[in-house]
Amino acid sequence: MTHLTKNNSEDQGLAVPDAARGKITEIFSSLQGEGIFLGERQLFIRFSGCSLRCSYCDTLQSITEEGHTLMSVQDILSRIRDLDAQKAHKTIAVTGGEPLLQADFLQRLLPEIKRMPKQIFLETSGVHPHFLEKVIDECDVIAMDLKPPSHASVDYWHEHQAFLQIAQNKVFIKMILTMQTTDEEFVKAIDLAAAANPIPPFVLQPVTPIQELNKRLAHIPLNDQDMIHPPSPARLMGLWELARHRLPDVRLIPQMHPVWGML
Ligand code: SF4
Repeated sequence: MTHLTKNNSEDQGLAVPDAARGKITEIFSSLQGEGIFLGERQLFIRFSGCSLRCSYCDTLQSITEEGHTLMSVQDILSRIRDLDAQKAHKTIAVTGGEPLLQADFLQRLLPEIKRMPKQIFLETSGVHPHFLEKVIDECDVIAMDLKPPSHASVDYWHEHQAFLQIAQNKVFIKMILTMQTTDEEFVKAIDLAAAANPIPPFVLQPVTPIQELNKRLAHIPLNDQDMIHPPSPARLMGLWELARHRLPDVRLIPQMHPVWGML
């Protein structure tokens, strides 16, 4: 998989120039399958575009912006009302792709969603602190994915540190663990979390072997080199112990949609 550098979002044309409309992949109602809101019904707004290319990404259609729709604030509010009429939602998950690449549009959209009133849950890679500054006042809870070099191929520690300083008590960290996760970067992740004030909850998420699942469903022969595997159960427990030694709130939470048959 091609890995990109930090400054190539402009090259990719991913920063949306028109703040009046957002690039949206889909808007839907579902159960939250990850993190601290696991199992709660939420309304998801999936934004298109991302400047990263994580090795385990399971939303390829949104990072390539394939088939996105340009929607105004009113278009999105109307869709939220339609979905709310079928099932009530307390929380709107703003996800992607990377929603913060459309921060100017979010500055228009989020205050209107808050007026409904709804709680806003931002899911982000945590590598764009300067965009977070624009919308932090409207966010209630933020899931910051931690992107270690083994999966983003670039070092984002400084960006994560700046992000945590802005997010303060609104954020929890989610780190996806694979067999490629190294001890060195895991310790660095713990150092980063321990230095934040306050120390955020730290969620360890063993990677879902999505390529394997997709190939099995499509009856495609499995090629082991294409697979991203989670660490062994023993290593997962060892990493949890290591983190818990330094951090007050550490949780091991796998992605549940495959378990629920909701892929
Ligand atoms: S940051 Fe998220 S959307 Fe972007 S490539 Fe990584 S996993 Fe995919």
